[in-house]
Amino acid sequence: MAKIDGSLFSSDKQVSAEAIHEAYGDCPQCQQPLAIRYANKSAFLGCSTYPACDYRKSLTDNAITTIKVMHDTPCPQCDQTLAIKKGRYGLFVGCVDFPVCNYIGSIKEQTDTQVTCPECKQGHLLEKTNKYGKKFYSCNHYPACKFVLNDKPVAHVCPDCSSPVMIQKSVPTLICVKPKCSGTVEL
Ligand SMILES: [Zn+2]
Ligand SMILES: [Zn+2]
Ligand SMILES: [Zn+2]
Ligand SMILES: [Zn+2]
Repeated sequence: MAKIDGSLFSSDKQVSAEAIHEAYGDCPQCQQPLAIRYANKSAFLGCSTYPACDYRKSLTDNAITTIKVMHDTPCPQCDQTLAIKKGRYGLFVGCVDFPVCNYIGSIKEQTDTQVTCPECKQGHLLEKTNKYGKKFYSCNHYPACKFVLNDKPVAHVCPDCSSPVMIQKSVPTLICVKPKCSGTVEL
């Protein structure tokens, strides 16, 4: 994973339900969302429907691994730094001092590239990160438009076919977004 921009993270102090899902999944007893609960000043993982469901588990989950420590991103809850972690279902942000500090936040899954979708010509292409941490780009008019790219789209007119979008497969070369067009631009 390349350099990580701190603005990718939600900086709210609240525990994100989405991040809990990425880290721990849903309640195995009733399939409802899990939540971090507190008893006697200690935190644990419990069912969000408590007391209807009394599932509880330690926050320490062997399936969670640290992918990258973000040395310049302070934890909003303590003096430590944050790290990108991989949980059962995806990536989330957690404190390096876990389980002493149980801050958990979500990674914003998408940013708008401001590039107009070349397929429907109405939507914008959003940059998203899949559960393996790989970026991909898809139209914000999904599911009406199912356009997806694996490489970064750039608003640049193709010299061969005048398509308004090219893709950056390798720096500094742009290639036409249309598979049948061989237009390229050297930046
Ligand atoms: Zn439950
Ligand atoms: Zn912390
Ligand atoms: Zn589209
Ligand atoms: Zn072209």
